[in-house]
Amino acid sequence: MGTKLETIGDLIDGGHTVTGWCNDCGRGSDIDLDAVAARRGRDWSYIRQKWPIRCGACGSGNTSIRIGIAGRPRGPGR
Ligand SMILES: [Zn+2]
Repeated sequence: MGTKLETIGDLIDGGHTVTGWCNDCGRGSDIDLDAVAARRGRDWSYIRQKWPIRCGACGSGNTSIRIGIAGRPRGPGR
């Protein structure tokens, strides 16, 4: 139970998606969470961490991420 989203494993288990955005060319693409988990481990806490991702278009490592919450629950609390 619990809806914590603190680790990469939490995101995978919840079916969430993460999109990476390149700060240099503005291109966005979905991140393969399984691949990140394989490299960092499912217990990797992504909060305030730099993701091991790279822009597929220009190769820049200057990227931001945006988490897409699947089935966002309704009601108060978070
Ligand atoms: Zn780029």
